[in-house]
Amino acid sequence: MTKRKMMAMQTDELYCGGFVHTLSGLISIDKYYDEHPEYFSGRKDWQPCLTNPEVFQIVLASVRERLEQYPNAKLISISQNDYPTQCTCENCLKVDAEEGSRAGAMLRFVNAIAEAIAEDYPDVVIDTLAYQNTRALPLITRPRENVQIRLCAIECCYMHSIDDPNCKRNRSFMEDLKAWSEVSEHLAIWEYTTNFDSYCSLHPNLEVLNDNMETYAQYGVDSIFCEANAKGVSGEFGVLKAYLLSKLQWDPYMTEEEYQYHINDFLECYYGPGWQVMRDLLDDLTSNALEQGGHVVAVGDRQFYPYYGFEPEDLEKIKADWAEARELALDDAQRLHLDRSYVSVLMAEASYYFYHMFDDPSNKQKFYDMIEYVKGIAIPLGIPHSYDSEMTAW
Ligand SMILES: [Zn+2]
Ligand SMILES: [Zn+2]
Repeated sequence: MTKRKMMAMQTDELYCGGFVHTLSGLISIDKYYDEHPEYFSGRKDWQPCLTNPEVFQIVLASVRERLEQYPNAKLISISQNDYPTQCTCENCLKVDAEEGSRAGAMLRFVNAIAEAIAEDYPDVVIDTLAYQNTRALPLITRPRENVQIRLCAIECCYMHSIDDPNCKRNRSFMEDLKAWSEVSEHLAIWEYTTNFDSYCSLHPNLEVLNDNMETYAQYGVDSIFCEANAKGVSGEFGVLKAYLLSKLQWDPYMTEEEYQYHINDFLECYYGPGWQVMRDLLDDLTSNALEQGGHVVAVGDRQFYPYYGFEPEDLEKIKADWAEARELALDDAQRLHLDRSYVSVLMAEASYYFYHMFDDPSNKQKFYDMIEYVKGIAIPLGIPHSYDSEMTAW
């Protein structure tokens, strides 16, 4: 699928009825739970029972209703709600046991809906998730030709390339990617390109964005959704990464030289003549993170104040260079861009204090002071700290 087509399909007209986690809308818990708790395995926070024939008829009717409402639609999502629970009725458990995967009941259900609408809507594809507990390909059932699997990389490490066999987080994901790619007519990826626990903190994933996009292309993936900052404007280097991801979607096979050219080209235009300080910071971030070892994830796993080895003396130099770059900026736009990304330098300092709190108790107060200082800068610039509410985020 071309990027243009994919973007068009994300409009309500072509991609109808919600983008993801749509089952809660297709069968309303509020409407049905009191009379039919068995539709939801007796729990309001569980997925609907996907082997119940009445649930099937309700969801099918909702799908048909939406397709009638949007006659140009080409894609409709039937996807699990955003919690890793599953119906535990006898039938669902039996199916999942036969299939060796929690995706078993899900895929049989989606296939059955896809079959039911195929004749009336021959151009419509049903999008569903292979996500968390449904990430592994079932043993028996295969997606129909009018079903799209959207494989989600939420558990992956972004320090190492997705196909790095030495990264244990990515190794199992690659097994699932290979398995789905062999049997799926339509395969999409949900990629995670920021630190969702702390939007402002430095996130060393720049060196894998191109490798990952090439791997996805090699495995026949035909569309990718890259989830990054969900609200507000970007701190860190989110705008640079959005630019690169856009370039990579046009050309996932670009050379390393071309990729590096695009990074520098963007930095120069976006930050002005002092851009090299940004490039140096990004390079140091990558080499520090690699030196530290370990993995870099998008969600959880001590991501609130990640420490990537920037010591106070490193940060003082970066701050001085940054002030110089600001002097060199050609206009207010470039100064604003520098200010936004500067929040990440301050967050690196906060992370240093956080990480060294037990070595030196005075760092505790320094950490809190720095967070207050960052808030004073970031909030007026419209930069959210994380996806959570401000109270819990800070
Ligand atoms: Zn069930
Ligand atoms: Zn890793």
